[in-house]
Amino acid sequence: MSSLLGTDQPHALVAGSGGFIGGHLVARLLAEGQRVTAVDVKPLDRWYQLHPKALNLSADLALREACQEVADGVDEIYNLAADMGGIGFIENNKAACMLSVLINTHLLLAARDRGVGRYFYASSACVYPAYRQGSARVEALCEDMAYPAEPEDGYGWEKLFAERMGRHFAEDFGLTVRIARFHNVYGPYGSWDDGREKAPAALCRKVAEAVRDGREEIEVWGDGTRTRSFMYVDDCIEGIRRIMRSDVEQPLNLGTSELITVGDLARLVARTAGVRLRHRYDTAAPQGVHGRNSDNTLIRAALGWAPVVPLAEGLRPTYAWIAAQVDAAAPVPSTTLGA
Ligand code: NAD
Repeated sequence: MSSLLGTDQPHALVAGSGGFIGGHLVARLLAEGQRVTAVDVKPLDRWYQLHPKALNLSADLALREACQEVADGVDEIYNLAADMGGIGFIENNKAACMLSVLINTHLLLAARDRGVGRYFYASSACVYPAYRQGSARVEALCEDMAYPAEPEDGYGWEKLFAERMGRHFAEDFGLTVRIARFHNVYGPYGSWDDGREKAPAALCRKVAEAVRDGREEIEVWGDGTRTRSFMYVDDCIEGIRRIMRSDVEQPLNLGTSELITVGDLARLVARTAGVRLRHRYDTAAPQGVHGRNSDNTLIRAALGWAPVVPLAEGLRPTYAWIAAQVDAAAPVPSTTLGA
């Protein structure tokens, strides 16, 4: 492995590298000159990004042996591997979401056993209790609000448990663990049509399909009034790197505090595409908590930094990429066939 990658740079293992954030993180670490082992359970031809300079492996990190093997000789582990998706996925696949505990458990053990220097865990704003998010006029969530615990059922409980595992591996085994609670990340090279896509990607796809088909209406889940903040993936990667290098032992919010309703998000995506569309609200669809925003006081104080990319700006490359996927996936019109 070291002869393929060279030996003079820190060696990072990115778990979940075939996914959305993992693919972007591999690109960043390679650009910094790091050696990277990139691992995902998906076959390589289904990764959103495949970076030839990394050692790319397809392996199931829920298995102890696989984790021990890929962590051998590694300096840092970034655990971004999880069985997850948007609200439609996590509400209907709670057991699958909780099984990600196997990935984190076996990666933590491998980090301990292989003497890995630093371990990053991707937690989520879904750890915050439902009783703090019952209104669309939200109180921004700060880190100490995670307890008393009432996280998102399934997915959020697994994240909160994994955070505590990280804390106790640090206390009992001396592992250096860093944890970020991501708030709704969006950008190109992620899920957009497989049932795991989140609101920004789903709305980009619906708008792009409406543009392609000349329709003037899109379906929007919920009644449009729920509120969220959304972080562009470049900010997420910058935050991961800063948190990994920091001495902050407690979980930190990693998100923007630019709050927007789902209805306004749909309008902003349409504006990005240069169109105006009517909304058909589906109030029977999964919607999640009423309102959620990130309080960035702690990350600003600890790192002197917080995410900066405005939503309107980050949506441009996101929409462009998803619209290109929508166009590429469209069936060829029959009039052009066999002409
Ligand atoms: P993603 O689904 O695009 O990527 C996760 C990757 O993990 C997938 O490619 C998947 O194949 C891989 N994986 C699943 N099980 C595996 C296994 N057993 N072994 C190896 N790989 C496995 O998701 P993402 O959006 O890139 O999220 C990355 C991390 O960030 C996850 O832990 C997620 O829970 C967390 N997170 C993401 C968001 C967001 O908005 N995207 C928000 C909060 C937290």
